[in-house]
Amino acid sequence: MTIAKLADNLFVSPQIAAAELDALKAQGIRAIINNRPDGEQADQPASADLEAEAKARGLAYRHIPVVSGKITDDQVAAFDAALKEMPQPVLAFCRSGTRSTSLWALAHADEIDTELLLKRCADAGYDLAGLQPRLADRRQAASAAAAPAKRAIAGYDVVVVGGGAAGIAVASSILRLRRGTTVAIVEPSEVHHYQAAFTLVGGGVFNDADTHVPQAKCIPPGAHWIRAAVAGFEPDHNRVILEDGERVAYRTLVVCPGLKLDWEAVAGLNETLGKNNVTSNYKPGLAPYTWSLIQGMRGGQALFTQPPMPIKCAGAPQKIMYLASDWWRSQGVLNDIHIQFNNAGGVLFGVKEFVPPLMRYVERYGIDLAFNSNLKAIDGPAKKAWFAVKGEGDKVETVEKSFDMIHVCPPQCAPDFIRNSPLAAESGWFEVDQETLRHPRYETVFGLGDATTTPNAKTAAAVRKQAPVAVRNVIAALDGKPEEAVYDGYGSCPLTVERGKVVLAEFGYGGKLMPTFPFDQTKPRWSMWVLKRHILPHMYFDVLFKGREWMAKPKVVRSAPKRVAIAAPTEAESRPARAAKRAAG
Ligand code: FAD
Repeated sequence: MTIAKLADNLFVSPQIAAAELDALKAQGIRAIINNRPDGEQADQPASADLEAEAKARGLAYRHIPVVSGKITDDQVAAFDAALKEMPQPVLAFCRSGTRSTSLWALAHADEIDTELLLKRCADAGYDLAGLQPRLADRRQAASAAAAPAKRAIAGYDVVVVGGGAAGIAVASSILRLRRGTTVAIVEPSEVHHYQAAFTLVGGGVFNDADTHVPQAKCIPPGAHWIRAAVAGFEPDHNRVILEDGERVAYRTLVVCPGLKLDWEAVAGLNETLGKNNVTSNYKPGLAPYTWSLIQGMRGGQALFTQPPMPIKCAGAPQKIMYLASDWWRSQGVLNDIHIQFNNAGGVLFGVKEFVPPLMRYVERYGIDLAFNSNLKAIDGPAKKAWFAVKGEGDKVETVEKSFDMIHVCPPQCAPDFIRNSPLAAESGWFEVDQETLRHPRYETVFGLGDATTTPNAKTAAAVRKQAPVAVRNVIAALDGKPEEAVYDGYGSCPLTVERGKVVLAEFGYGGKLMPTFPFDQTKPRWSMWVLKRHILPHMYFDVLFKGREWMAKPKVVRSAPKRVAIAAPTEAESRPARAAKRAAG
């Protein structure tokens, strides 16, 4: 049986047999939708029989039969409702899988660009070209319905999507370098997280409260904070669409909404995260639970996981493992704990120069390395986890492991509203030129931070070097200047190998070493611990967030003058920004 992934919560396949239900469950499927009317073919299993077999295995089941070529809107709504209500991920099937795919595509036609939708289905092996007119009609109808709701369009010189590390840095810097620029930051969250210290909190050496800061304190004076989430883009009209349908116009756009932590991709994880000894420093607020589990562990099996790349701070899944091991060593219980690093990849660290020092710590702590081992499902109360383990000849088998504690790094991908937008690359990430951080098809659009296609280490350290590049190029675009700044791929990972020692890995595109200091940075050092623990938080809040470019001046090259596609916002349009500026003093 071949099953194809259409979305995070949905797989589709041709007709399934009862004998295949156990295998589907083992792959993480939690619910079945049958879209085939009974009796289409003589050898077809009856829906009631399949339902009984599925339920006997704890799988949810629904029968939403549709006739090929005659899918009604009610059936689309029923399918969509079932997908939302049933445990996920769901497997939907019909004779070939085409009807199930069509139902899903029609249910999402209003929110996903038609071409992208057709491509997504084609990638899964289903050609829905015949459905194109109906999909396009639904998309148009949804836009028309949303139109009356939209309020007056506000306009700004610069609109920044996301007020995280990158968004705040860019907005501050633009306001500092180009006085009078109207800047809006679109950010739904009331709290900003200083994520780079989450590992230290999990290791018991940093105060969790200091990592969560009111967003209002981060928004730079002079910027207008739009407390909303962006839902889509209209790059041909230089506008972003907010969740409530309101449009915000821009002369230049900077997109930096971070990435999506895909907790749903590991079956059972969401239900157990934060209890049953299942933790993750990647979830804001959960690092103190990691620390309490580390302290409580006196013996047994401790699992640490790393999903396929790319992820943010690729060192974080192992950094917490070293800090935990060092703590257990100091408590005299290290020999009673079996520590295993389950890494979906095949190497300990992506830049080869840093592997030997890390291997010395792996050996010192007696860590068992399990490469090509990808966490797929977890049962918290039973303290069991299942891994897809790639062996000889890429043969994959499911391996069950017990744990007394587990630290999970979740799979990561581009946010849905980026993935489903015309600004996404094939991979789903926000497409930019890796040097100029400019969108290849829209010259007034820029992107940086974790959300983009740039093949650097996704870190706040990278943001520190990207922000000045994006800022220079935004200003050049606004002013029509013939110059462009370029980014060299710099990123950094302070590897906390023990309490009081850090290996500071700094590298650019292609793994090229880019050390800041004139000594061998592959050596673990106390000075680099002091940098990570005490200096970098100040660099983040007092340098990066204030728009200062200490040790981050970009290289600038000449380029053809850039045209900016729309004129400056009108009097009426720029009023919100000026009001905000006055309020901010
Ligand atoms: P974020 O800082 O994540 O900000 C994205 C912002 O966009 C958020 O405020 C979010 O609310 C907002 N947003 C989301 N959706 C929308 C929407 N639809 N509309 C508008 N706004 C939206 N980096 C280091 O340099 N060193 C480290 O040691 C380090 N360790 C880490 C350890 C852990 C456990 C984690 C989780 C991260 C670590 N990082 C580290 C990585 C670092 O935090 C990120 O790379 C950095 O925050 C990326 O910045 P960003 O602005 O792209 O994304």
